[in-house]
Amino acid sequence: MKIGATLGFNLIDYPGKIAAVAFTTGCNYLCPHCHAAPLLRNAPDLGSEGFLQYLDTVKDWVNGVVICGGEPTLQPNLVPFIGKLRDRDLCVKLDTNGSNPKVLERLLGEGLVDYVAMDVKGPRFLWPATAGVEGHEEAMAESMKLVAKFPEYEFRTTVAPVPRGDGEITFLTVHEMAAAAKLIAAATGGAAHKYYVQKFVPRKNGLLDARLEAFPETPVTLLQEIHKEVLKYLPNTQLRG
Ligand code: SF4
Repeated sequence: MKIGATLGFNLIDYPGKIAAVAFTTGCNYLCPHCHAAPLLRNAPDLGSEGFLQYLDTVKDWVNGVVICGGEPTLQPNLVPFIGKLRDRDLCVKLDTNGSNPKVLERLLGEGLVDYVAMDVKGPRFLWPATAGVEGHEEAMAESMKLVAKFPEYEFRTTVAPVPRGDGEITFLTVHEMAAAAKLIAAATGGAAHKYYVQKFVPRKNGLLDARLEAFPETPVTLLQEIHKEVLKYLPNTQLRG
């Protein structure tokens, strides 16, 4: 299990829990707006033993672990690692880009994960641009169906600038976000999902596509317009700062 960074605990990443966070290394996507470039490019492997030992020292008050990345489902030792968290009676939240439905199916079948958060990279027709790679469309659609079967789950989309085919870079639009919401409803056969519309936050010298560093945060007015439209298809949509 390759872990590139950890957080001792926080109250934000796992709703309702005091959770430690393990950031796994590597990802099979190249999202232009990704903040995790250091984890994707030759991050040192801290290993899992130190993290597990830390969890033993805080077992009286840390009650959950978030596994994020990078993309955790790429880790061959993910299942045994989660097993060690389960042995410690910890709740587990997994953040995923949805590219690996086989792993999600196993985690679901074995009851290993309590909460899954899946990134939906905008509407399907834009996934090659928003995820930075092609060929994961079927897997992501399959993952949506599986995610909606976990005890707790959420879908989320960052309203980021998208490099377009014509060379322009512009934020995801209201129309495109409505298409993403409709896709979630269609893929899962339901609309009662938690869906978070997240703002893009630029970071100097920290994004996979440096051209996006010149952009501001997602304008509040755009987020509000998107929220109003997306609520028509997913009534449990919230804005997330
Ligand atoms: S934002 Fe994209 S590239 Fe970055 S870790 Fe997530 S899925 Fe991978």
